[in-house]
Amino acid sequence: MSDIIHLLPDSVANQIAAGEVIQRPASVLKELVENSIDAGATFIQIVIKDAGRTLIQVVDNGKGMSETDARMAFERHATSKINTADDLFSIRTMGFRGEALASIAAVAQVELRTRRTEDELGILVEIAGTRVFKQETVQCDSGTSFQVKNLFFNVPARRRFLKSDNVEKSHIFTEFYRIALVNSNVAFTLFDGDEEIFQLPASNIKIRIENIFGKNAKKRWQQQLLTIETSTNLVSLVGYVGKPEYAQKSGSQYFFVNGRYMRHPYFHKAVLLAYNQMIQASESPNYFIFLEVDPQTIDINIHPTKTEIKFENEQAIWSILSSAVKESLGKFNVVPSIDFDQNGSFEMPLGMSVENVRPPQSNFNPNYNPFGTTGYKRPALDWEELYGDFEKKTIHGKSSSTWQSNSELSTIITGEAFVQQQEIEHNESRTENFQYKNRLIFTGIKSGLLMIDQHRAHTRILFDQFINQMENSKGISQQVLFPEELELNDDDALFFEQIIPDLKQIGFEFELSGKNSYSIKGVSALIGSSSVIDLLLGMLDSAKTTALDPTKAMKESISLFLAESASLKAGQRLTNEEMCDLIDRLFACANHNFTPDGKIINTIITQEEIEKRF
Ligand code: ADP
Ligand code: MG
Repeated sequence: MSDIIHLLPDSVANQIAAGEVIQRPASVLKELVENSIDAGATFIQIVIKDAGRTLIQVVDNGKGMSETDARMAFERHATSKINTADDLFSIRTMGFRGEALASIAAVAQVELRTRRTEDELGILVEIAGTRVFKQETVQCDSGTSFQVKNLFFNVPARRRFLKSDNVEKSHIFTEFYRIALVNSNVAFTLFDGDEEIFQLPASNIKIRIENIFGKNAKKRWQQQLLTIETSTNLVSLVGYVGKPEYAQKSGSQYFFVNGRYMRHPYFHKAVLLAYNQMIQASESPNYFIFLEVDPQTIDINIHPTKTEIKFENEQAIWSILSSAVKESLGKFNVVPSIDFDQNGSFEMPLGMSVENVRPPQSNFNPNYNPFGTTGYKRPALDWEELYGDFEKKTIHGKSSSTWQSNSELSTIITGEAFVQQQEIEHNESRTENFQYKNRLIFTGIKSGLLMIDQHRAHTRILFDQFINQMENSKGISQQVLFPEELELNDDDALFFEQIIPDLKQIGFEFELSGKNSYSIKGVSALIGSSSVIDLLLGMLDSAKTTALDPTKAMKESISLFLAESASLKAGQRLTNEEMCDLIDRLFACANHNFTPDGKIINTIITQEEIEKRF
């Protein structure tokens, strides 16, 4: 038999590559506009027709191309932006792979007109399905104009995968915002057919934000945004964060690094942490944060669509970012004066010794004695008094990172220091509850004063519900009006596929909308409508870590992550009715004393202790 291996023709190879790079009209727009930015354009005009299906045109006043370059540009791995492998570690341009134009030309009909200022005549290249149809000199303005027509004209399967015009347009706008925000010194216009959608003059960032998002805002963005700025030898960051009162169900959240948009769920958490207690769990703050780091310390190479970026100094930057945001919120007096979380006392994990935990700052004077009784040393709500004998109640020998299954926990808990369920049920006086610092619920019971951490209580309740839904009855799904797209890389998608059945059980609904991308059609009714994409990405990250540890159960990991994200946060004011409801639901849980990861949910100051004080 003769040999059977052969090289694929360019047209086929390029089409395969296009599968990665060009997923929809928005990808074409992104690639073309990024090329214009790289070419030093100061003015970029964009026209789309039929949500980019029939036409995406990008015209720039950048440096243009020579005749040879105009032809070369469509070759795969043809780029003017890097020369050697070393250059990969100091990338300053948006593009560098030299794949985009080859990919676009493989799956669309492309017309390029380009002229350098120094040339008298420009050049026209027409190419479709990787075949060059025309190449000739023409009269044209200096700069570059690309017309990309009839995307996927030769790949019907891909064409069918495209969504409604509205969805495709929203992808286009998403890409457009990402580029326009970080290039505010470049003027843009965007036309949808004949309709002008955006006309953005070159400006500073704040005005650019206003010009892009201003139309739909309740109040001028100028009033909503606080400046953040910090510079260290690892990172310098500038940008704006929204005042907490302007947090929305789904905020505008943008990170950029070295002039490039990035998605970074981990840094997102750093920002959220700074807002802790200031916004509702169902809301998310707006932010536009621009990081500059030494290009050698990041890897932008990990994903072909390049929105994920790996940082060498991720943890340090995390802290710098979180404190920068906190500082700016504090400077403008929006941070409450008592901030328990600063000291993390409530997050004291099971088994951690009390000595390692600093008591939170509060307005209490530890020597204050309201009654002048000499034997009375501390105010009733002194922290040590509440959690001082914490260690007695921890489960010895168990590290905080070990999962505690419900049954395991129940058997080790002595019960002595904790409230019994019957006591709650038979507690007539429990109709009056008191919420302390919008964080702890105090309620009188027969054996003393019961204190409940509202966030932990709710986490336990939701966790049990998720587990029950995964194992027994399917959870209720909330239909999504405008489905968001979850786009993953190959590894994440593979992993995600494994946990989809569990997520479906608790009410999520997904539809495969392309390679590794899922349209989110429904969300568990137990989850607020906060940013679902970030939630899922965060969950994916935490589930992946769990997957590496065979002692940890995946269902529990997913449930815990979702429960913690969706539960009431400290700082959330509760009505008496809501407190009653929370208490009832907590004590209906088999293990109402500890969170699934072993943190104390409730504790009692016994009647005896109280008596001793008087
Ligand atoms: P990359 O951007 O990764 O280099 P592309 O396939 O997007 O790869 O583009 C190939 C090359 O074509 C670029 O490196 C650049 O030299 C040239 N090019 C593309 N678009 C423009 C433009 N608008 N103006 C000038 N040169 C361009
Ligand atoms: Mg490019």
